[in-house]
Amino acid sequence: MNHTIVKAFGTESAEADLKQLQIKRRTVLEKDVEIDILYCGVCHSDLHFARNDWGMTQYPVVPGHEIVGKVTQIGSDVSKHKIGDIVAVGCLVDSCRTCQNCKDDLEQYCPEWVGTYGGYDNHLDTNTHGGYSETIVVDESFVLSVPKNLNLAGIAPVLCAGITTWSPLRHWNVGKDSKVAVIGLGGLGHMAIKLAVALGANVTLFSRSTNKIEDAKALGAHEVIISTEESHMQKVMGKFDVIIDTVPYEHDLNPYIGTLSTNGTLVVVGYLGPLDPMVMTVPLIMGRKSVAGSLIGGIAETQELLDFCGKHNITSDVEVINMQEINTAYERMLKSDVKYRFVIDMKSLKS
Ligand code: NAP
Ligand code: ZN
Ligand code: ZN
Repeated sequence: MNHTIVKAFGTESAEADLKQLQIKRRTVLEKDVEIDILYCGVCHSDLHFARNDWGMTQYPVVPGHEIVGKVTQIGSDVSKHKIGDIVAVGCLVDSCRTCQNCKDDLEQYCPEWVGTYGGYDNHLDTNTHGGYSETIVVDESFVLSVPKNLNLAGIAPVLCAGITTWSPLRHWNVGKDSKVAVIGLGGLGHMAIKLAVALGANVTLFSRSTNKIEDAKALGAHEVIISTEESHMQKVMGKFDVIIDTVPYEHDLNPYIGTLSTNGTLVVVGYLGPLDPMVMTVPLIMGRKSVAGSLIGGIAETQELLDFCGKHNITSDVEVINMQEINTAYERMLKSDVKYRFVIDMKSLKS
């Protein structure tokens, strides 16, 4: 037999709640690592995917791409990890390994990258299934090492929320005294603040809500701008070198473009889809400004981030839940009622 059957949580349609399912995990191949999943973060992308918000979901879906666990088995050719190691898996479990992006450690832009869920497992001829499950089997090249000093539930969100904000911060050379703004204080937003602050930047949060001001400051933000208040927005016109936009739904970029400095870049990471209203080009042209996008990060860059978090003692602020609470957690996430990431304790699925 080329697989084992394990328990998971997922859904068979966009309308249905998540429920317990059984899925196949491939038998460990030469380069594979089998991981007993301890914690899995709950990303807004999990919700988008389960509910087919992006129109490309194939069912059944088992979400989860912020995975931390313990190695329980390794293949005969594995050298990076050993049984008992605490390891992590993020949004990618494979790529072609030969294209220019793969050679440049940008596997996330490989045309053949395999997502941790919703990808294609050519060994089992099925969809890949994510971390809302008891175990996962992944090629060692896509398995990361976890620093020993960090809380394991708190490190899980680094695998997506962390790397998705770290990668643009690094690409746009954020460092000491850079002026960075983050739009939206959720899972990605709170990691963006922590990481930009740790890089030495001066950090501003744009939020719709006055009740997140104290939290944002506690996370290290130097200033909070309420984006719905015109007078607040005026205060920061022309200020930011980089803006990380984590808003998950259609929204107007134009007011934020006004707050970029000359040569500044607004990086969209949250919303996939057409913008309405459209972006006005005049403010871009008049200040050599850019609107850009960015997708998660490569494997080497994710390891760099995990090591950085180990060194700076950075983890996510999490609310640990049981697997059976996932549907309520999705509803709460839609209302921004989470501080600031749900993480599932996978013991609850096993018992
Ligand atoms: P989240 O925890 O739900 O946070 C999103 C935040 O955006 C909210 O806390 C809220 O902050 C703000 N917001 C929500 N709805 C809004 C609206 N209609 N208008 C304006 N602001 C709104 O979500 P997340 O897990 O951080 O994910 C954010 C987005 O990034 C999702 O769409 C996810 O799919 C995407 N994502 C992209 C990548 C990538 O590689 N590019 C990776 C991971 C996730 P305030 O209350 O402070 O305004
Ligand atoms: Zn994610
Ligand atoms: Zn490739």
